[in-house]
Amino acid sequence: MIEEQISLVRERLAATKSLVVLTGAGISAESGVPTFRGDEGLWKTYRAEELATPQAFQRDPQLVWEWYQWRRGLIAAKVPNAAHEALVGLEQTIIQFQLITQNVDGLHAKAGSRNMLEMHGNIWKMRCTHCGVKTEDHSLSLPALPKCSECDSLLRPDIVWFGEAIDGKHLEQSLSACQNHEVMFVIGTSGVVQPAASFASIAKEAGVFVVEINPAPSLSGLADVTLSGKAAEVLPQLGF
Ligand code: NAD
Ligand code: ZN
Repeated sequence: MIEEQISLVRERLAATKSLVVLTGAGISAESGVPTFRGDEGLWKTYRAEELATPQAFQRDPQLVWEWYQWRRGLIAAKVPNAAHEALVGLEQTIIQFQLITQNVDGLHAKAGSRNMLEMHGNIWKMRCTHCGVKTEDHSLSLPALPKCSECDSLLRPDIVWFGEAIDGKHLEQSLSACQNHEVMFVIGTSGVVQPAASFASIAKEAGVFVVEINPAPSLSGLADVTLSGKAAEVLPQLGF
């Protein structure tokens, strides 16, 4: 059954000039980066949803930084998988290509993706809570509470936390991309975190051909084609 659907998507891609791809934590699962909602999404006794919030940071910045430093260490050792690489191949082949990722791990960039929007930020970037200055730092031995080099105030991860708004420019670009491409891939996202969760339905309404790739599909009937499987196994079969 899946072979038939894969051929259908291959044919569609061969005739397509524009592709928009939305990725979530699932695409990095096979690189060994845990998703938030799986069993491995637990850290100590906390869930990600309890730590990745502005309230948690206000209450206990050191705890939140400790969690991010643990995640940075985990991600630093990981490499892109066949799914990240297949998307680089697609970008090199299809005339108009836009990648939108909810991931903060930087693995798409490491694989070589170029036309990319990191909607939720990047775990290697930090922002001053006072003056807003942004820095990129790949160090795995940050101080317990990293401070701004300009004003000595507390730095925070430059990540969009639960309950925070997406940068308006990113949102506008993402929405426009979802409406103005012929085909959309939705890969490894649970469809729970807004606004990305609504991108597929917005694309669908605009007449875009939507393909979902996920071992536990979540778009419930909205996708034109559902490829039920792991991203790193399914994407290379599309032949790019
Ligand atoms: P999620 O953890 O809520 O859901 C993961 C999804 O991936 C699920 O639908 C699951 O069925 C699917 N999945 C699991 N293994 C897969 C595989 N091998 N191939 C394809 N799909 C697979 O993640 P989400 O929907 O991206 O949302 C959670 C939020 O957490 C996001 O905003 C993201 O910023 C953040 N997050 C990022 C990372 C990362 O950067 N790698 C990791 C965890 C969470
Ligand atoms: Zn500052």
